[in-house]
Amino acid sequence: MIPVRGYTGQRVAVLGLGRSGLAAARALHEGGAIPVCWDDNAAARDAATEEGFEVKELHKAGAFDDITRLIVSPGIPHLYPAPNPVVRAAMVAGVPVDNDIGLFFQSFATEEWANFDVDPKVVAVTGSNGKSTTSALIHHVLESTGRNTQLAGNIGRGVLDIDPAADGDVVVLELSSYQTDLARSLTPDLAVFSNLSPDHLDRHNGMGGYFAAKRRLFAEGGPDRAIIGIDEDEGLYLAGQLSESAADDRVIRISTEQKLTGPGWQVFARKGFLSEYRKGRQVGSIDLRAIKGLPGAHNHQNACAAYAVCRSLGLAPRVIEQGFASFGGLPHRSQIVAEANGVTFVNDSKATNVDSAAKALSAFKNIRWICGGLEKEGGLDGLKDATGQVVKAYVIGREAAHFAMQLSGVDAEICTTMETAVAKAIADAQEGETVLLAPAAASFDQYDSFEKRGAHFIELVKETLK
Ligand code: ADP
Repeated sequence: MIPVRGYTGQRVAVLGLGRSGLAAARALHEGGAIPVCWDDNAAARDAATEEGFEVKELHKAGAFDDITRLIVSPGIPHLYPAPNPVVRAAMVAGVPVDNDIGLFFQSFATEEWANFDVDPKVVAVTGSNGKSTTSALIHHVLESTGRNTQLAGNIGRGVLDIDPAADGDVVVLELSSYQTDLARSLTPDLAVFSNLSPDHLDRHNGMGGYFAAKRRLFAEGGPDRAIIGIDEDEGLYLAGQLSESAADDRVIRISTEQKLTGPGWQVFARKGFLSEYRKGRQVGSIDLRAIKGLPGAHNHQNACAAYAVCRSLGLAPRVIEQGFASFGGLPHRSQIVAEANGVTFVNDSKATNVDSAAKALSAFKNIRWICGGLEKEGGLDGLKDATGQVVKAYVIGREAAHFAMQLSGVDAEICTTMETAVAKAIADAQEGETVLLAPAAASFDQYDSFEKRGAHFIELVKETLK
């Protein structure tokens, strides 16, 4: 645990008592503060009471009179589409609002500097898609070299749950836009912004707000090294804003769409080959086609980002390549779950938005595509250029008919349930084809989470193939 510093003897409110909220309450308590907790869910409140924490109705008048901070969980809106009533009460009372990420940066390795031979470093990863994969890949490569490393944030442990800083430690944090938007301190040593596509627009009041939230990771003086994907205009702009000149190597530009050979530092992947160029010269390369855990151009983008981070931390290209080779990939992201009669079964249940589904579709050939679910804002237009390899779509979800109607030019069958979709796809599949679950939609109309949806797909595939 990282004890939270700076609030000794003060009452600090914690709103939302899930994994990160409870961890925040514990870390505040450990640092000498008095956490005052609330969650709309009674079971969550009971869990806090059982741990001995004070529970208080924070939306009631005067609740913030004796409180100095409000710590908010990422699932709770702090501004758009409208502030949660407790957040509003804090703002009206003039109480600053923060989250566990802000507390982490305020507290991690801030007093022990004299104890370290090699200073600990914090790597923060953000982007619309691929954050988990990139973070896990960085962590894996570092671990494979014997370096002390911890993985936290949206993946792995809660940020305040990790072990206190050790000599030479590298903490890899996966951060969502909700988290970077609110955190009062954001001071990573290295930061990654890999890509940007529309997502969570209701929480950020549109694309501009979404980009602004992610961009905060590069404010406050900026990290020592910024690794920026420049295949979208926002990344291109950000890279420029962070550089003093084209040769400024505090910024590493990455791309999977263009060859980058400028005077600065850059890493790009084309046709399955990763190349690193510095000052106009090639200084490293990796054949990514041989790496099973990282299929498709989208994973090659993740590989470029992870490579740039590891190079910044002093690893040699060959060492990084060996780490990549032993990376198994993450569940629910282009995860090969079975191979039978020449048909490959892939679970990409994490493809909850159009962009990630398009990327999954471009990573495979001759696809029987299981898609659909709770549609996100913005429609399905972004899938248009991605369905060239789709033999047939099997549409699930409560609104399957509406979803199917939008898939112009694709042979689509309305299946509604995963059971029907898997059964039909397996019955139709020919040798050399791939049955791919990449929904391009959230799971909440039929499942509690994308993990449950993916697990259901795997279970049905395995049962049917028995
Ligand atoms: P995140 O943590 O940002 O949600 P994940 O690594 O969990 O990212 O991947 C989420 C989804 O996006 C998966 O469907 C995955 O196959 C896809 N994906 C992974 N990396 C990328 C990328 N660089 N660009 C687009 N889609 C990606």
